[in-house]
Amino acid sequence: LGFRKFKLNKQLYSVCDELGYTEPTPIQDKAIPLVLSGHDLFGIAQTGTGKTAAYLLPLLYKAKYAQGNDPRVLILVPTRELAIQVGKEVEKLAVYTGLRHAVVYGGIGPKTQIEEVEKGIDLLVGTPGRVMDIYSRGKLKTKSIKYMVLDEADRIMDMGFMPQIRQMLEIIPRKRQNLLFSATMPDVVVRLSEEFLEFPQRVEI
Ligand code: AMP
Repeated sequence: LGFRKFKLNKQLYSVCDELGYTEPTPIQDKAIPLVLSGHDLFGIAQTGTGKTAAYLLPLLYKAKYAQGNDPRVLILVPTRELAIQVGKEVEKLAVYTGLRHAVVYGGIGPKTQIEEVEKGIDLLVGTPGRVMDIYSRGKLKTKSIKYMVLDEADRIMDMGFMPQIRQMLEIIPRKRQNLLFSATMPDVVVRLSEEFLEFPQRVEI
């Protein structure tokens, strides 16, 4: 059955076939049904386990099709490298869905990134500092965000992004689904999870 045991759509089954994702990885097995059913999720998983597709596949399913101009899915990551990597995975997995995305991060000027956001997007991938920067310039509307992911939350904390995360939580609608992934579980991440997640299901691999 492979990915067909999950309730996804034809576009996503096809892309899994084409990418050679024949069987879900353990984190995908556990996380995909929980994300589909609407739970908040606390995932303990390292890079290389397939954690990106574990949240992208169900979120791409839920986002369904291109709609409006403002992002409905926000994925925050600690670094520019991870932002680019997650962006590539979105590009691959979303290829038949018509969903649009942008990737934003610091270290370069914001102009091109703002243009990408302003074209109209369904998903935004970015580092917390640059996402807040673009918001502060009035170029990002957060009212449509329904799904929020913190990927590599331990590194997000290490990078000192807690203030930006707190700011973000104040400007994003409260009624949303939250997913947090972390390779390790230091106290700061446990505290973050308590602020960020509501009745989370925990998955560990
Ligand atoms: P990640 O842990 O998300 O960084 O993923 C590690 C690598 O595994 C990436 O190159 C993915 O494209 C790949 N991958 C993710 N899920 C699967 C799967 N079910 N089968 C084969 N490869 C996968």
